[in-house]
Amino acid sequence: PLRGRNGYDGPVTDLPSLREQLDAHGLSAKKSFGQHFLLDLNVTRKIVRLAGPFEGRSVVEVGPGPGGLTRALLESDAGKVVLVEKDPRFLPLLGELDDGTGRLQIVEGDALKVREAELVDGPAHLVSNLPYNVGTALLIKWLTGPWTPHALTLMFQKEVAERVVAAPGDEAYGRLAVISQAVCDARIVLHLPAAAFTPPPKVASAVVHLVPRPDRPERDTLKRLERVTAAAFGQRRKMLRSSLKPLGGAALCEAAGIDPEARAETVDLAGFLRLAAALPTV
Ligand code: SAM
Repeated sequence: PLRGRNGYDGPVTDLPSLREQLDAHGLSAKKSFGQHFLLDLNVTRKIVRLAGPFEGRSVVEVGPGPGGLTRALLESDAGKVVLVEKDPRFLPLLGELDDGTGRLQIVEGDALKVREAELVDGPAHLVSNLPYNVGTALLIKWLTGPWTPHALTLMFQKEVAERVVAAPGDEAYGRLAVISQAVCDARIVLHLPAAAFTPPPKVASAVVHLVPRPDRPERDTLKRLERVTAAAFGQRRKMLRSSLKPLGGAALCEAAGIDPEARAETVDLAGFLRLAAALPTV
């Protein structure tokens, strides 16, 4: 069962447990890096099962830390596993997962700045137990940036996961839902309690699986969508004719076929796309 698509039967089987690895390397979690580790391989294997199959495609993992998810990825049918880790303390420990075949690539760097297109050829999956302090910023980068993953499987704080998948009328419905769902089909595939992590965070977590839509908007439309949703949800209690005033107010709403007296939280994705299309060119 530990054999990957490329016949990988390397060190994963013989490795000490993640906890032993952390102790052996004298490592503990740092709050500033948003470190909450998954040390149970049953959990990380489950996440990887939900993310795949990869069918030989590359997988980029952001923030591997002690490598619990990485180990499960190395057991999978991923063709290549590329790690991006900001905390250099983990690099020696991650290096022990390298079987020398070139399947594993370890990059020390900030995922917010890294250019993924330079790390992988062809379509690649993103799989990550995200550092919560930069989770939303990273999602926006992958949704709106020049590089689009084949699919994204991402652990967020539960509250952020709910904001990604929310529907009109939900309390969590806002900019993140509109932008995420304009680009991807998104659903929550797993809930995890805080106790699943070491150390446990203050809140529960959830894994969101996102698949880019074939009809996702062009970058220019996405920029417009960001402007409209920022204005509309920036003052979500107000009617659109007043929250959207700087962008055209009631006239803009009418051009888009939206009731100017509606509030942002009732407008669906199609409505926001029409508002974005009706914006005067800048
Ligand atoms: N994947 C590991 C697991 O599940 O046990 C660790 C997850 S921990 C929530 C987040 C990881 O992201 C940490 O290893 C942290 O050092 C790393 N990290 C934090 N900020 C980062 C950034 N900007 N770029 C890359 N990695 C980052």
